[in-house]
Amino acid sequence: MLPDSYFQPRIQNVVPGASAPARSARSRGVLCLAAALAALMLSVGPGGGVRAEVVKSGRPAPGVATQSGAANAATSAVGKTGVLKDLNNANPELKRLRREIADNLKATARRGRLRWPVRYVRYKLRPDENFYFVMAKVSQDADTIASLNSLANPNALGPGESILIPNARGLFLKAKDPATLAKKYQVSRNAMQRAGEFWFLAGQKYRPKEMAYFRGDSFLPPLKTGRVSSRFGMRSDPFTRRRTFHGGLDIAAPRGTAVHASQGGKVIRVASNARGYGKLIVIEHRFGYKTYYGHLSAILVRKGQKVAADQIIGRVGSTGRATGPHLHFEVRKNGQRRNPGVHGVRMK
Ligand SMILES: [Zn+2]
Repeated sequence: MLPDSYFQPRIQNVVPGASAPARSARSRGVLCLAAALAALMLSVGPGGGVRAEVVKSGRPAPGVATQSGAANAATSAVGKTGVLKDLNNANPELKRLRREIADNLKATARRGRLRWPVRYVRYKLRPDENFYFVMAKVSQDADTIASLNSLANPNALGPGESILIPNARGLFLKAKDPATLAKKYQVSRNAMQRAGEFWFLAGQKYRPKEMAYFRGDSFLPPLKTGRVSSRFGMRSDPFTRRRTFHGGLDIAAPRGTAVHASQGGKVIRVASNARGYGKLIVIEHRFGYKTYYGHLSAILVRKGQKVAADQIIGRVGSTGRATGPHLHFEVRKNGQRRNPGVHGVRMK
C-alpha cells in the first residue's frame, strides 16, 4: 500500500540541448545547484539531518525539505524548453508533438535517422493523471520517458510533478564512454547523439530485465515479518516532532530478526556507526540501484561480498538514530531515494 503523502523528490540535473554558448552559464549554475543538492541528500541520515542542513543555509533547500522544491529544480533546469499546457486533443502543441514523434519513428526505421531534431516539452501532471495516461496521450513509450526523466518506476510520477517529453522515441542514457553504450545496444557510434548529459539512442528500448526493475517487481521485502512503523515521505520526526522527509521504510521487528537482501548484488559498504543509520549495509544492484539497511544489531556480510536475493545479511537492532528495534530500509536509484513501496516491497 502506498502512503497518501507519497512524494518522490527528483532532481532534474540535466539540461538537454543546453550546449549552445548562450545557455551554458545558466546551465552550469543549475547543474552545480543540482549536484550540491544531490550531495546534500546523500550526506544525511535517515532522520533529521536534513532539517539541520536546511536551517544552516538560511532557506529551504529545494527538493530536500519541501515537496514543491524538486519540481522547481526541474523547472529551472529545463530552461527554455517548450511547455505543453494540457493534453486536450485539440491542443496544437500536442498535435505537433505527436506528429514529430510519428515522423521520427518512421524515419528512424527507414533511414536510421531522425526527421526532426530532438526537442523537449515540459509537462506538469494534473490531478488524476499518471505515467500511463500521459504516455498514451502523447504517444510516447515507457522507455523514452523513464530514461529521460530518470524515473525508477511508473508510480514514481504523480499529479503536480513535471516531466520532460521528447519528440522522438529511444533511450536517454548516461555514460562516461559512449563506446560502452554502442557495444551494449549494438548500435554504431554515429547513431548516438548528445542530449545534454545524455546520449540519445533513437529507437532503442530497455532490455527486458531492466524493464522488470522499472515495473517494480524486482525487490523483495527485507524482513519476513514486521510492522511498518514509518513510511516513505514527509512525517513528524520522532525526535524533534518537526515535519521532515523520511527517505526510506521503517519496519519494526524484535531485535535479532533476520534481515534479507532485497535483491541480489554486491555489498559495497558496511559501517559500524554511519551517521543516523548506525550499523549499516549498502548493497549495489544492477541498473544504478542500491539498497540500504540501517540500525542493525549485527552485520553478517563483508564489503565486496556478492549476495543473492533473499540471503540473510544482518540482524535487526536499534543502532544509530532509532527509538526502538527496527530496520530502516532504502531503495536508491542513481543516488536518489525511491519509495520502496513502488518497487514491490510490501509488508503483509
Ligand atoms: Zn527510517
